[in-house]
Amino acid sequence: MPVVDKASHIGITRSQNNSAQTNVEENLKKKTRRAIYSLMGTDLHGENGLDPETSIAMLRTYFLPILTYGLEIVLPKGKILDNLQIQYKKLLKQIISLNINFADPAVYIISGLLPIEAEIHLKILSLFGNIARANKNSSEWRLAERQLHIKSFDSNRWFIDIKKICIKYNLQNPLSLLYNEMSKGKWKKMTTTAVHKYWTTRINEEIVYYSSLKYILTSSFKVGIIHPLALSNSANQRDINRIPIRIKIVTGTYILQTNRAAFNQNNIDPTCKLCDQAEESISHFLLCCRALDQIRTPILKNVICKCSELLALKHSNIQLTFCN
Ligand SMILES: [Zn+2]
Repeated sequence: MPVVDKASHIGITRSQNNSAQTNVEENLKKKTRRAIYSLMGTDLHGENGLDPETSIAMLRTYFLPILTYGLEIVLPKGKILDNLQIQYKKLLKQIISLNINFADPAVYIISGLLPIEAEIHLKILSLFGNIARANKNSSEWRLAERQLHIKSFDSNRWFIDIKKICIKYNLQNPLSLLYNEMSKGKWKKMTTTAVHKYWTTRINEEIVYYSSLKYILTSSFKVGIIHPLALSNSANQRDINRIPIRIKIVTGTYILQTNRAAFNQNNIDPTCKLCDQAEESISHFLLCCRALDQIRTPILKNVICKCSELLALKHSNIQLTFCN
């Protein structure tokens, strides 16, 4: 018999040293890369390809199950999880045309996706639900009961990790779930709501700390909902090509002459190249540049019209409450 330090069983690699690391590396470097490259043929490559909404739906359907495969069993923690998060965010940023160094919450706000940690936790909670509903004589159920009773909180066991996850999301004690059986639908609804609520609050709170996200509303992250910035009105390629520019302008990563002048080592003139009258800053570009007047006027008219409507509506509501 040959002596091996790792072996694969139903797609999950067990190794003597660190099973989580081996699986994360294998999922990232082999399986996911292969899946991504196979999707490139369908135009999944950020700018100049599919619109973000379709790309994100494809990622969720094809890529996420591969990336998180088996990770509910060999739970990645610490540095391994960080590495996985970094790679996941990097890919998302490429797909929605954000700069790689850009603030992380923006990825989730625009895509409406959850961080990879949340996806793994959802899978773990679902697996635990299956164990809790299993036959009380099955070895998994008995193991769960034994470990949850005996093992201390600092133990490294899988069921103790479950306990920590339940505390994190304010869920009931896993031991009580073992004895009081809950239907699959009810458990799923309960865990999904708890996980979504936790991450929605956390990401929305983080927005305030990034000055680059000042033009994005503070409570704009909603799980599963793509930010209106990344939505296209039609399948028209011209419309799709505008999305990355729109995202870059709102997140302040669109490079104008003033940015070039400030960060380039060569002596660059910050004056607007379109009108040659003032420095090309974001306010000049959006509101003042005369060369863009023709395009801007109808849009601005529309914005003013909508704003007045909203203001009038708000004002009439105030009067109604006052009359009552
Ligand atoms: Zn100008």
